[in-house]
Amino acid sequence: MTNKRITAHAGSVRIGGDAPIVVQTMCNTHTYDIEETVAQCIRMRDAGAELIRITVPGLQEIPHLTEIRDRLRAAGVGTPLVADIHFSSETALAAARIVEKVRINPGNFHKDHQKAREQFGRFLEVCRECGTAVRVGLNHGSLGEYITGLYGNTPLAMAKAAMEWLEMCIEAEFFNVVVSLKASNTVVMVQAYRELMRRMQERGYVFPLHLGVTEAGNGESGRIKSCIGIASLLREGIGNTLRVSLTEPPAAELPVAAYLAARYSHRPMPELSEAERRMLDAACEWGPVLLNREIDEIPASAGLDAHLTDEIMQAARRRFYRPEYIACPGCGRTMYDLQGSFEQVKARTSHLKGMVIAVMGCIVNGPGEMADADWGYVGEGGGKVSIYRKGEPVLRHVPDSEAIDRLLELIEKEGA
Ligand code: SF4
Repeated sequence: MTNKRITAHAGSVRIGGDAPIVVQTMCNTHTYDIEETVAQCIRMRDAGAELIRITVPGLQEIPHLTEIRDRLRAAGVGTPLVADIHFSSETALAAARIVEKVRINPGNFHKDHQKAREQFGRFLEVCRECGTAVRVGLNHGSLGEYITGLYGNTPLAMAKAAMEWLEMCIEAEFFNVVVSLKASNTVVMVQAYRELMRRMQERGYVFPLHLGVTEAGNGESGRIKSCIGIASLLREGIGNTLRVSLTEPPAAELPVAAYLAARYSHRPMPELSEAERRMLDAACEWGPVLLNREIDEIPASAGLDAHLTDEIMQAARRRFYRPEYIACPGCGRTMYDLQGSFEQVKARTSHLKGMVIAVMGCIVNGPGEMADADWGYVGEGGGKVSIYRKGEPVLRHVPDSEAIDRLLELIEKEGA
């Protein structure tokens, strides 16, 4: 069957087909803080963002979203905006009338799968009417119960779930759609996208793919992990737009994203320090072949230092020399000092080799998104934290000044 390669349009930005790889990021401001969100969007545009995502937790944020859009356009910032919606189909319908693209996980529109399908159908009709692009964004940790009940929490389940929603788009002849299947585990993420690509090719409709390693953390390890997951796919010609999610100010994501886009298409290479360029080159060169198990070690002739070798081995999930950290980038739902807390958790737990520790920005999505974690540290808001063990809350409403001590006590109690 001949494949139809689909190009989506978010305002003036083309995604997929023969368009260059698009780089994007997301605000971590509160959407009700219009001044700060507009200022951050302008910083992101200046740093090279071609799409900017803003969280929209509920209908109460719709007027703020409208105001942010209007102020940006009045300031001459035409960068298309993406509304990030979880759970509320009504919010998705409202946002589709305001911004150029809406990201949803349709499986979470309703607990009843049939109702979720009906709401997704309505949503597509509004997007068609308004010319709004859609991202069907499914994450490893937040698949609907319907699909995990059938296939477990696996790359296959992720691809199957995506295909169900894409099938509805094909039936509705609605093609302004991008898909993502993110995971914080690079192997799961790569397998899920490959499986989806195979299924789309079989079906004859290849929708554009948004790539990302979710909850990658920060610093060198966040950059290396993101590069390995994303580069593994881009080198196979899979991927049309990408976000490098870091638990840092969002503008810091853009040089890494631009590097990846430049390395795998014909875009200009961003300016990077020599050390950063060397690190990203090494991650892209050695990470994918380690992840694919084409080699078992980085050869000494590569000339990498021991630390960089360890980081690449860990991010490719071949050898673990420290704990594995999962940390979300934070967004408008974050109600505490996520970046500071993550640094403290890392400093106090660095001896716990092999353990998986998650630090998440909100209680709404955090627990679901940290599916692989042994321990979770989740901001509740109001200066409180919940501590999770294997996905279940074990301590709630802990003042954040005490939460790391409580977490370490629990870990020690288990004799880690
Ligand atoms: S888990 Fe983090 S990035 Fe995801 S919605 Fe919550 S605060 Fe935002």
